[in-house]
Amino acid sequence: MDWNNKDEVREYMRAYKKAHNSNKKYYESHREEILKKQKEYQEVNKEKIKEYRKDYRSKNSENLKAYKDANKEKTKEYNRLYYLKHREEIIAQKTEYNKEYSKSQMARAQRQLQQYKRMDIRNGFGNVIDFDARWIVENIYTKKCAYCDETDWHKLGCNRIDNSKGHTKDNVEPCCFHHNCVLNGKESGFKNLTYNK
Ligand SMILES: [Zn+2]
Repeated sequence: MDWNNKDEVREYMRAYKKAHNSNKKYYESHREEILKKQKEYQEVNKEKIKEYRKDYRSKNSENLKAYKDANKEKTKEYNRLYYLKHREEIIAQKTEYNKEYSKSQMARAQRQLQQYKRMDIRNGFGNVIDFDARWIVENIYTKKCAYCDETDWHKLGCNRIDNSKGHTKDNVEPCCFHHNCVLNGKESGFKNLTYNK
């Protein structure tokens, strides 16, 4: 098969379509039977199929990588032209996406995680954090403040239970901004800390 020969490709596509249509007809009229056989086969060959899929996936990714390597320049040029042609759209889309993302739980969790990291390092605990942003989303934003009924994830964060230690899963509790401030204020001796809700 020569993919650069248009006639050959056209002929191939025609044959493919014909075969596809006749298969489709056959499938539709024997559907129940086929599905039953398929299921039986899958049941019997479970392990084999698993193995085959694994193999297929790894080969496929190898092929894809080889293709990408071989067509690097071509792909680069294609992407460049595509970008030039759709520049405005792409930028608008990205801006919109960034705007939406920055409002998301994950983005807020990422920002908080960075703050906690800096805080721990500044306090001399080093980089001890053993959780990631997803953990904050799943284990802090879904909970209630440990000191009140606040459940709005926009206001929740991690409060360290033992302030002589850094931010670790074992040492943080969900805490609203207000109570975090109060607790930290007590710790650092601020008496007149106010918080506007
Ligand atoms: Zn609270």
